Parts: sequence; C-alpha cells; structure tokens
Amino acid sequence: MTKRLSSFIFLLGRFPRAHVAATLALAALLGAAMLVPETGSSVPSQMESFELALPERGGSEMDSDTNISTAAERQWREITIRSGDTLGNLLRNNGVSAAQVHTLVSTDPTLKELANLRVGQTLRIDIDQYGTLQAIEQEISRVETRRGVLQNGEWQAEHIKRDYQRQMSYAEAVIEDSLFLAGQQAGMTDNLIMQLANIFAWDIDFILDIRRGDHFRVLYEELLLDGEKVADGDILMAEFWNRDRKVTAFRFETADGQTEYLDALGNSMRREFIRTPVEFARISSRFNPNRRHPVLNTIRAHRGVDYAAPSGTPIRAAGDGRVEFVGKKGGYGNVIIIRHGQAYSTLYAHMRSFTRGMRNGTRVKQGQTIGYVGMTGLASGPHLHYEFLVNGVHRDPLTVKLPKAQGIPEGERKAFLVHANRLRNQLALYSDANTLAANESR
Ligand SMILES: [Zn+2]
Repeated sequence: MTKRLSSFIFLLGRFPRAHVAATLALAALLGAAMLVPETGSSVPSQMESFELALPERGGSEMDSDTNISTAAERQWREITIRSGDTLGNLLRNNGVSAAQVHTLVSTDPTLKELANLRVGQTLRIDIDQYGTLQAIEQEISRVETRRGVLQNGEWQAEHIKRDYQRQMSYAEAVIEDSLFLAGQQAGMTDNLIMQLANIFAWDIDFILDIRRGDHFRVLYEELLLDGEKVADGDILMAEFWNRDRKVTAFRFETADGQTEYLDALGNSMRREFIRTPVEFARISSRFNPNRRHPVLNTIRAHRGVDYAAPSGTPIRAAGDGRVEFVGKKGGYGNVIIIRHGQAYSTLYAHMRSFTRGMRNGTRVKQGQTIGYVGMTGLASGPHLHYEFLVNGVHRDPLTVKLPKAQGIPEGERKAFLVHANRLRNQLALYSDANTLAANESR
C-alpha cells in the first residue's frame, strides 16, 4: 500500500451511490444494535456523506427542574444586538415600560444576566397586545440560551443547554513524514490528531518511534448543531501500526462515569508510577520553593525530593517511559531524565553511574534499574535528588496526584468486551468502504 489514503470523507465525492447503499445495508446488519436514526424524518443527507448516526448521549441539562412551557404560539420578535444597545433601551423602544424592565432584571440572578448584551447576539422578545413583555430569550452561545417567561405575573427563569448531536466519522492514513501531516491529509483536525497522539503516548513516541509506512485507523465522533459540525468529539477507537507492532485503544465509560482508553483486554492505555524510586532510603530534604541550599547557602527552590541512601543503591525508573537525557548537567552531576507519556517526566540527579545501555531514546520499564545513588555535582553526601514534572512544571513527588491506570472494573469486563467488539465492527465497516472507494477511484 504505497499510495497514501486520503480521508474517507474526501473520497466520497467519487464514491458511487450503489456502493454506498450496499455498504449501508451491511452497516445495518453489523451495527443494528447501535444504529439509531437521528430524529425520525425522511432519509437523511447521511446517505450522501455516509455518516452513521449515533444515539445521543445524555439528556439536555437544565438548571431548573421546572420545564417552563415553551408556548409554540409565541410571537417572537427577534433583535440582533448592535453596538450601544442596552436591554432597557431595546425593551422601551418596543413599548415595554421601564417598571417592567426593572422587575424583569431584579427578580432572579439568571434574568439579571439578560442585561449583559454582546454585539451580534440574538435577543427574542414576546410582547402582547397591551405592551406587556411575556417572554424573553437570549442566545448566550450556540448551545446555551437564557429564557424568562412571565407566568401568573411572576418571572420564571430558565437556563437551557442544548445537546450536541453526535455523528461517527472515520479516518485512516499512512505516515510518510509525520503523524501531523498524515492526520491532516486524512481530514483530521489538529485537536483530533493530538487526541490520537495522547491515547498512544505511553506506547509510541511520535517523534522517535515513527517510521515511514506506519499507519493508523481511527473512529471518532463529531459534534453537530442543526446538522452542522461545530466541534470534534472523542476518539472512540484507534489502531496504530508502529513498525511491526500494532496497538489498539477503545474508549470506555464505566458505570460510575469515568472514561478511559483501554486495550483489547481492558487494560488501561496509561501507566502507573511508583512513588519512591529508591528502596531503603530516607527522605533527607523535601520539595520546598524557599529552601536554603546546603552547599551554596543561598535561598534556592528545592524542586524535588532528596533520598539519602548509601552510594551504589539502585535507582529505579518511576514509570514506563523513554530516556530523554542521560549525562552530566551542572550541579545535578550525572542525571537521567525520563519522559513518560505526553505529560510527565522524572529526573534523577547526583547519580554515581548509569546502568549499561542507558542512552537517549532507551525505553525503560517501571521499576527497572537505571543507575546508582552517588554524590556527583553539588551534593553534600550520597543521595538521589528526584524531580517530578507535569507538563513541564515541577510538582512535589510526594504529593503529586499520579495517574491511575486501573483498567476495567471486573464487573464491567463483559460490557466492555461487547462494546469493544461493536466498535471493532464499525471500524472494519468504514475501513472496507474506504478501501472500496480507493479502488474505485484508481
Ligand atoms: Zn535535591
């Protein structure tokens, strides 16, 4: 497969209708349990773009339990906010009394917010024949609306949040230069490509590991409003072939609402850390932004933890990762920096020596010995100086919240396997259609 596969969507222009229909029929067979048509109307335009509709997740959220009647017979007058408009002026120009405006904005905190108008925003008002404002709506964003309704002489407030429609989509690509270029050419947004990189961050170093010919397939959601894509949703499943290995991840939401990416067996795609990288050691200095340095005798932040231990005590990698630096670094003496996934890195300083084979790019497993305690650099005695960084920021290694990698709860394993299988079928379906389209256009 030398030819780079471009985005599925892109290919659709050349995708004969008959095949789409055939594939859709197949889709119906494979994913019957999952495919729920979007709001019942006629054959949707999905025929053309071959998008499978997903059942919407969750319901619409409302601040109040009372669902104020949205009288269909309302006579809305729509106003687009222009520079210099105020709520008071707009309402008074439409015949609403100043007294009513005052009541409106002083009864409820939600309604008070109506006074915050933005240029370009839409305001809808319903004024009856006597000039009394009956209802008002303010579009805060494409998904949020603030509404006030006069009921029995009292203003009732409502904050309405619409749900996005979710639509499944698919992309696949062969990497020739970088993940980013391949992803972009497959029609993925940068955000989505980052999601993909993050999911596999513990398994694949997208700078060092990637080889020409590596490829991926990804099933993801797009978020729509009124049939128009407004944002990326989540990646639901992804497969990545890196050289001769294949890694697969499934997004799964547990019964208690936690979401995590799991491999085919239900293990977390993330890895855990051990809290202490040296055994049989005592903490001789803690994380302290205002510490007086024992050798320099000046105030200098201590951005790690010191573990005093006899020279030669083994130092263990805190987590799975890849050596990012090994060598001398000023006051640190001999130091190793390990990168773990996308967000984390750990630093080990004052080492007497490194384990054989430690060089830039070496893959290490959690608990693996990477070197030995010493006192190279600025050290008053043998100890390990250990730092923990999250997105480049030093955190206290003793208290930092470490990523949990629990994997699937035992009671939900069955549900997960069913879910994973369903996604696998969906992915295969898209992939087949894509191959078909690619052949067709050759
Ligand atoms: Zn230290």
